[in-house]
Amino acid sequence: MNIAYDAIIIGTGQAGPPLAGRLTATGMKVAIIERGLFGGTCVNTGCIPTKTMVASAYAARLASRAAEYGVAIGRPVAMDMKQVKARKDAVSGQSNQSVENGLKTMPNCTVYRGHARFESPHEVSVGDARLTAGKIFINVGGRAAAPHIPGMDQVPYLNNSSMMRVDFLPKHLIILGGSYIGLEFGQMFRRFGSEVTIVETGPRLIPREDEDVSAAILDIMEREGIQVRLAAKCKLLARHGDEIVASAEAAGTSFEIRGSHLLAATGRRPNTDDLGLEKAGVAVDPRGYITVDNQLRTNVPGIWAMGDCNGHGGFTHTSYNDFEIVAANLLDNDSRKVSDRIPTYALFIDPPLGRAGMTETEARDSGRKVLMGKLQMTKVGRAVEKGETLGFMKVLINAETQRIMGASILGTGGDEAIHSILDVMYADRPYTTIRRAMHIHPTVSELIPTMLAELQPLAPQR
Ligand SMILES: Cc1cc2nc3c(=O)[nH]c(=O)nc-3n(C[C@H](O)[C@H](O)[C@H](O)COP(=O)(O)OP(=O)(O)OC[C@H]3O[C@@H](n4cnc5c(N)ncnc54)[C@H](O)[C@@H]3O)c2cc1C
Repeated sequence: MNIAYDAIIIGTGQAGPPLAGRLTATGMKVAIIERGLFGGTCVNTGCIPTKTMVASAYAARLASRAAEYGVAIGRPVAMDMKQVKARKDAVSGQSNQSVENGLKTMPNCTVYRGHARFESPHEVSVGDARLTAGKIFINVGGRAAAPHIPGMDQVPYLNNSSMMRVDFLPKHLIILGGSYIGLEFGQMFRRFGSEVTIVETGPRLIPREDEDVSAAILDIMEREGIQVRLAAKCKLLARHGDEIVASAEAAGTSFEIRGSHLLAATGRRPNTDDLGLEKAGVAVDPRGYITVDNQLRTNVPGIWAMGDCNGHGGFTHTSYNDFEIVAANLLDNDSRKVSDRIPTYALFIDPPLGRAGMTETEARDSGRKVLMGKLQMTKVGRAVEKGETLGFMKVLINAETQRIMGASILGTGGDEAIHSILDVMYADRPYTTIRRAMHIHPTVSELIPTMLAELQPLAPQR
């Protein structure tokens, strides 16, 4: 069966479905192919379910601190993990259904279920069907990559997808990897009541952030009783009865961690190895990410790659932004490009980390004259009132142009407050714009102008 379309979209992640909406609205006949769950990672095994569970963990934490706030709960806080999962399933399921229904009822759109593979530059097979189109958009995302550790194949282990089925309390969760995914799951399960040990090979947590950010996050984790082993290499995994034993080494000393469950949170890989890209001649980099230009075109005319599979983001908002770039160029005569965007993301531990632009290290390495403002969250009235004073905020300014180079807000509301800085960066206005702005009292954002009033030259590297 050979069926011709104007466009084929592979994958229903964060870019494919909205692009289908824009293309079909112009009258194009579009095929969209999904092999797994509609909505992809964010909706089913990533952002939405994890942040729903983070909310349960926050409730647990607040309940355990209730007496501090003058609230008498009257009995020890207990978790109902089946309800945690049911709540997560309901929230995530609603998004999944909405993507599926949206696509299935979209005029001019045909939904195919199954694994898509290129047969040639303009031909894709799915099951028995062969689809052809002049334009093909790849939005296949990525999946958890398991680390290569001896014994890994001998022990049961979890990843971000299988964690979604956990409706019980692991007695002791060992987490390999101390970056975004490991930290979010680690704090969450500690708050649910599990013993948690995080094993990180690097000398500090979340190494792409500045050292002071890593140190403050370590403090946040350890205060809650999470064991963190840094610069630790897991050398062997084995099963002893009901236990998983991780044999590791740090600073020349060997040790063992015995846990009930193991979560591998050591990175992700693109879903490009089984897509038949070689038959289409689409180039990938050594890690399997599809090579694209500034407008997300691959090396093959008529084929684009959006989202995690192109290696230019790794977030829901970058994937959605990819859709906007492709749609703007194809349909709106608007030459938007990847380099227009300012890196921004959050780490959703509690308190969260909101990030925009450069880190302090990157600003220092830029060779520019840099001013820095830094304020502890203990100085933020809103944080004090909420009883959530851990963390700090800092901002980096180009001393010559007065433009904001980057900021980190690790503290209550940091994931929201960062946007006030981000938008001034997008507006390409000097930092004095926000310095002179009147913000609402009492909020975390209220202290951003104060921080900007107390800038200091960035001290030379120690
Ligand atoms: C635990 C976790 C937490 C996260 N939290 C956040 C967060 O808080 N904020 C944030 O911005 N990002 C977060 N992310 C990242 C975010 O989920 C992804 O960046 C986002 O989902 C973008 O995905 P995408 O559009 O590239 O594709 P995906 O959402 O991965 O979708 C790709 C789709 O393509 C399908 N597919 C793959 N191959 C084929 C094929 N050959 N044929 C047919 N279909 C195929 C897949 O089944 C999938 O449905 C998190 C990720 C994880 C794992």
